[in-house]
Amino acid sequence: MTLAKAYAATSATAPLGPYQFERRAVGQHDVQIEIAYCGICHSDLHQVRNEWGNSTYPMVPGHEIVGRVTAVGAHVKGFKVGDLAGVGCLVDSCRTCPSCQRQLEQFCEKGAAFSYNSTEMDRKTITQGGYSSSIVTDEAFTLKISPKLDLAAAAPLLCAGITTYSPLRHWKTKAGDKVGVVGLGGLGHMAVKLAAAMGAEVTMLSTSTSKEADARKLGAHHFGLTSDDATFKKLAGHFDLIIDTISAPHDYNKYLGLLRVEGSMVLLGVPPEPTPVAAFPLIMGRRSLSGSLIGGIAETQEMLDFCAEHNIVSDVEVIPVQQVNQAYERMLRNDVRYRFVLDMKTL
Ligand code: NAP
Ligand code: ZN
Ligand code: ZN
Repeated sequence: MTLAKAYAATSATAPLGPYQFERRAVGQHDVQIEIAYCGICHSDLHQVRNEWGNSTYPMVPGHEIVGRVTAVGAHVKGFKVGDLAGVGCLVDSCRTCPSCQRQLEQFCEKGAAFSYNSTEMDRKTITQGGYSSSIVTDEAFTLKISPKLDLAAAAPLLCAGITTYSPLRHWKTKAGDKVGVVGLGGLGHMAVKLAAAMGAEVTMLSTSTSKEADARKLGAHHFGLTSDDATFKKLAGHFDLIIDTISAPHDYNKYLGLLRVEGSMVLLGVPPEPTPVAAFPLIMGRRSLSGSLIGGIAETQEMLDFCAEHNIVSDVEVIPVQQVNQAYERMLRNDVRYRFVLDMKTL
């Protein structure tokens, strides 16, 4: 066992503060990582504040974890001490159900073990995430990070990267496809970069006029202000695929009208409140409304390799861990440019 230093939430209303806990001893298939950086995902904030109603405390959030390997178990083949390594949202799954066999561990039919606010597959051991000094994970759920990438800026690939890469691949995004990205935050800016790298014609749909120049720098070809009804008239029937990353309740129906015949809108954002969906925008054009949850481990590695090849990382603001509560407040004001990353040396 190793004592880990961390920042934790002790209730839905208290600010995060210093905390210590034991990480398990390194098992035969385990990799121990000294965490260098951990991204702040809006899902951390939803869960810290119990907005999804499933939170347990104390909770050490964080599932965009990168660092260096400090120990490996006797049976570990793919990692050695000193290697760069990453851990995302998943730390285990049953490995035998039909979803696991299809490398869709995020949809494990027994219920996957998530990095925090979850349990290991024994259903007893509470998992704790990456706002901490170290983590021990099974090699099968540990990712390789290319030394070509800036390490702090690579951290958000472990959630924001894979969450946006996976639907782009699933809906077979190719050169010339018209992709709309809704919400320019952590997920949204990765969606723009990845869709542009796949050759799509990308339109950023945002509530923030101040983000237009950034959207274009990130790779968006067009920008639409969603507070302006003219945007919805101009772009009616336009998109093959819409990636919706908004974290708060909003009207999906308006966006469905922007899809071409048989186009798809994919929900990635998880607003705590449900939103009514009308039949008309769906039946008029056989359009689809669907959702997507992170991605499997093999696809996460594929995404990391794609990013290394295309030199894609997140645009990050690296902050000391003591500023995590202020970062949450800025995230709620849509003031993220475009991902906060905690420097774990500051713990
Ligand atoms: P974020 O950095 O806070 O970005 C969210 C963006 O949504 C904001 O920057 C803003 O963009 C827009 N937005 C926020 N409130 C809005 C409102 N009331 N109306 C319209 N637009 C609004 O968050 P994130 O980390 O990217 O996460 C986004 C969502 O995805 C969260 O709900 C998170 O839990 C979820 N998530 C899902 C998965 C998955 O597997 N499906 C994985 C990770 C995260 P503009 O300023 O451009 O309007
Ligand atoms: Zn996340
Ligand atoms: Zn399974």
